[in-house]
Amino acid sequence: MNHRSTSLRLAGEHCAHALDFYERGAPYERAHFSVGVAAHAILEEVGKEAVRRGRYLLLREVEETAERTASELIREGRDFEGEREPPLRSDLVWEGRDLALVYARECPMPPDGEYEVAAAVNRQFLPCPAGEGAYLMARIDHKATRVAGLDLELDDEDGAAGPVLQLDDYKSGWSADERELRQLQRKIQAVTGWANWGRDHDVLRLRVINIRMRRVYETVILPNTEDGERLMARWRRDIEREIEARDVQRGPDGERPATPGACCVGCPYLGQCEPAARHLERRGLSTEPRDLAEELAILEARRGQLLGILREEAGEQPIPVPGGSVGFYAKEQETPRAEAPGVLAGLWERRLQGRDAAGLLAALPGLLGSLGLGKAQYERGLSHLYRDGGEEGRDRQRRALAAMLTTKVQRSFGVLPDGEEGSDDGDQG
Ligand code: SF4
Repeated sequence: MNHRSTSLRLAGEHCAHALDFYERGAPYERAHFSVGVAAHAILEEVGKEAVRRGRYLLLREVEETAERTASELIREGRDFEGEREPPLRSDLVWEGRDLALVYARECPMPPDGEYEVAAAVNRQFLPCPAGEGAYLMARIDHKATRVAGLDLELDDEDGAAGPVLQLDDYKSGWSADERELRQLQRKIQAVTGWANWGRDHDVLRLRVINIRMRRVYETVILPNTEDGERLMARWRRDIEREIEARDVQRGPDGERPATPGACCVGCPYLGQCEPAARHLERRGLSTEPRDLAEELAILEARRGQLLGILREEAGEQPIPVPGGSVGFYAKEQETPRAEAPGVLAGLWERRLQGRDAAGLLAALPGLLGSLGLGKAQYERGLSHLYRDGGEEGRDRQRRALAAMLTTKVQRSFGVLPDGEEGSDDGDQG
């Protein structure tokens, strides 16, 4: 059997038993992924269309391609890894389409390289055709070879940087960030991609692109240097160990162990997973902190499923429950009017009357400080400043933002799946 970055990822992100579901072709909870699937498929088609035409697409062409792809997904579904997947729900496809359009408008899909391409290697990690005979396969969302213009600072031993092989992975989840660069999927993409296309290149650039946040995270490897060779060898070993571990985990019945707990959050097989259901039932009355923590993890995953169903069911009318109801309700919130910046600037101007422009500028840090702006506001302020600067402008924007930010550790509470580090965006408590 060949191993795929997408399937091995299931075991890493959820549990080994999820791989059993995958391997026997069990249906998985699609609604959870449909928005991302649609956004991916649309960006892929927009990219391919740009390559076909040999230029960046006009906005009208991007929209036409997006509409056509969205209709196909709703009508016929899509081909994924050689298999036909059923049609997707239209509301989720449209949400994905909108997400893709916002991204493609701001970050046009480049008309070079290849979109959605497979890289495969045999047991010796040598390139081979993708298919059943391959030992390991990865899908690359966008591959660009002999990319120029990477400004690398290399020491003398490494010599000058040559042509760059760039492998991009588009992510639609809110949470995708630089941690993705260290995950198994990235290692598989790097190892298979370099084996297939690395010849005549000196640099491997791996990028993770969060299309929702429109942020790019990247790491650069020099596989032809001593350090780079060592890193790639280590990644190959990591992959082999992961595959071996998943093979020896099988019990006499051929099934791998299920480990219900935090890993169930977001697992596409939760709805049909008996060990997870049994575990939840068994732990129902336990007061052991460990049991309760595990239960919370499963309930959180279940909560996501229930929310999806109930949003549909309660779309028109709230559903009554003892003591209240479940459904949509309106909530008033005070937000600034469009004229608010002008009003505030006018008031400041009046207070500072008589001062010259330099005086006004000198007062600006005080004004910004008094507003208590967060990272998002500084980011938006910078994007206004650099929005016409293309890739160079975005790079400057990233560097300017990095110079303005510092890291604070805050207490968070919630379910933290293995392999993930804590973040400060949970409930404060
Ligand atoms: S639901 Fe939980 S126990 Fe079941 S396969 Fe998924 S992660 Fe494993």
